[in-house]
Amino acid sequence: MRVVVSGGSGFLGSHLCEALLDRGDSVCCLDNFSSGRSANIAHLLREPGFDCTACDVTVPFRSSGDVDAVVHLASPASPFDYGRLPLQTLATGSRGTENLLRLAVRHNARFVLASTSEVYGDPQVHPQDEDYWGNVNPIGPRSVYDEAKRFAEALSMAYRRSQSADVGIVRIFNTYGPRMRAQDGRVVSSFISQALEEEPLTVFGDGSQTRSFCYVDDMVRGLLAMIDSDLPGPFNLGNPTERTVRELAELVLSITGSGSELRFLPLPADDPARRRPVITRAHQGLGWHPRVPLEEGLRHTVDWFLSQPDTHVRPRER
Ligand code: NAD
Ligand code: UDP
Repeated sequence: MRVVVSGGSGFLGSHLCEALLDRGDSVCCLDNFSSGRSANIAHLLREPGFDCTACDVTVPFRSSGDVDAVVHLASPASPFDYGRLPLQTLATGSRGTENLLRLAVRHNARFVLASTSEVYGDPQVHPQDEDYWGNVNPIGPRSVYDEAKRFAEALSMAYRRSQSADVGIVRIFNTYGPRMRAQDGRVVSSFISQALEEEPLTVFGDGSQTRSFCYVDDMVRGLLAMIDSDLPGPFNLGNPTERTVRELAELVLSITGSGSELRFLPLPADDPARRRPVITRAHQGLGWHPRVPLEEGLRHTVDWFLSQPDTHVRPRER
């Protein structure tokens, strides 16, 4: 298969590109490097089946070769990134999604949309299954991301209904692992980098809000299963083990052996109070379920952060 991966130099995208190449597929990565890094894919550029085009998916893209699948991962993804790129986030979710849907239709290719648990907003139903329609503030600071993804889902389903496009939607819950940027503002990368630097861990609110964290390898298996399927979904992909943010902070401190304190800061506007996926549908439809426990995934992630030259850990603590 030849697979177009938008956002392929980002955190999830680079792992997906690697997994596709490992199983013998060719990959065409499209990225504008707004939150992705060339270092994430530098090792892939040597592979004969891999190419990367620096471009913005809000501009139509024509492929010179065949396309069997399009996976649309391009989007600012952390609250910090979509906060600094609000208009680009909306444009990537709307125009970008339409451009890639058109590409898929032209080539009769499978189209997989990376949607998000954020379509559920601050959920009033717990845990969240795919039949829940969500509780999103349409004008709040998170709305540029939430509504862009909700629009992208609506557009994808319209293409499926009106153009017979082979569209599949996955709703990704908080995912972590190697290649997260230390400065992306997400909770796992922030806590690990703060702990390793012996700086205070910035807990927003009282830390009682919950998330359910999925290790990147599990997420990539889910994405591959969705590429290979012809089902529309939507499927929740995430690890249903739920933790409070405070529990996460304490776990990171114990894994890193850090003496950092917790610093409590104001909770950002519209921050969801709780989030946990029901994954029965993905299990039944894709045969998928996550395997990596949080403690194990965090150890791999901490090891990766320690291996990075820009991690300023005092030698004694390495
Ligand atoms: P990321 O920021 O590491 O990757 C996104 C990539 O998209 C980056 O390489 C960025 O440069 C690229 N990009 C952004 N806008 C673009 C544009 N207009 N044109 C071309 N490239 C563009 O984020 P990630 O965590 O890897 O997320 C990947 C996808 O998965 C996103 O769509 C995100 O919404 C979704 N998702 C991720 C999570 C998570 O926890 N990681 C959770 C839910 C959904
Ligand atoms: N969070 C925190 N400290 C940080 C970054 C985030 O306490 O330095 C909290 C944030 O308020 C949210 C949770 O951790 O409740 C997850 O935040 P993240 O940005 O990782 O993902 P999202 O809000 O998109 O789920």
